[in-house]
Amino acid sequence: MPEKADRAYSPRADLLAGRVVLVTGAGDGIGRAAALAYAEHGADVVLLGRTEHKLEAVFDLIEASTETRPVVVPADLLHASEDAATILYHAIRREYGRLDGVLHNAGLLGPRTSIAEYAVSDWLEVMHVNVNAAFIVTRAMMPLLEESDDASVVFTFSGVGRRGRAHWGAYAVSKFALEGLMEVLADETARAGRIRVNSLNPGATRTAMRAAAYPHEDPETLPPPEDHMGLYLYLMGPDSKGVTGQRFDAGFWSSPH
Ligand code: NDP
Repeated sequence: MPEKADRAYSPRADLLAGRVVLVTGAGDGIGRAAALAYAEHGADVVLLGRTEHKLEAVFDLIEASTETRPVVVPADLLHASEDAATILYHAIRREYGRLDGVLHNAGLLGPRTSIAEYAVSDWLEVMHVNVNAAFIVTRAMMPLLEESDDASVVFTFSGVGRRGRAHWGAYAVSKFALEGLMEVLADETARAGRIRVNSLNPGATRTAMRAAAYPHEDPETLPPPEDHMGLYLYLMGPDSKGVTGQRFDAGFWSSPH
């Protein structure tokens, strides 16, 4: 694995050419930036999210600025199920015949309150979107990923999923769980060496979720999602081949721009 670099990662322009990448939560925030960066570097991107007009806007930007073939998949991961994931699997196989990467980015913040006050229904929703859906989608995509020579699965964690903090409730617990899912899957796939599985923490980033979590913070003091795309590209592309079971923090590679 490369040493942490102060300089920017410089991915080749065609880093992801010929690859198909699924991004969850692709309509806004960090997922939107990642979907655009992946397409700019040649990937056909499956844009999954719950707000169709946001996905359509990302689709239009990609169509206008690249030669790649994105598709929009409007889906609320709150309703993620084995059947829905199987339909997605068949749709990707029919459309592209392959899948080389998944960025599990979609996430629900949920209420910022104590465990004693946390509504059970809120807890179950956050855990379903943040953890169960990531498992359900990954499981359904495994046959496609196993057919790729060089597949990458990336989970998104957070500092509060490394050390629990008061009033972060199910969000924090879900991020601990994702780390477990990443480690288990990385261990299961390490021997065959065709799929690498890692997680990344974007850190404080200027998005709607961050603004909801810290309403009194000035967003202009935070980096925009685009600043982290070096790491997102590195983990999705061939330069991270052989790297698996690792946690990366924003700043490991800075932006290529
Ligand atoms: P945003 O809330 O800005 O964007 C999240 C995206 O996920 C949105 O497009 C949203 O859809 C989508 N999404 C949310 N719930 C669902 C659902 N049920 N089904 C489908 N799509 C859904 O968040 P960020 O970009 O800030 O966060 C992205 C990831 O990074 C998350 O996993 C978050 O936990 C993590 N992270 C973020 C940090 C930050 O400072 N921003 C710090 C550490 C980690 P819609 O547009 O419809 O709302």
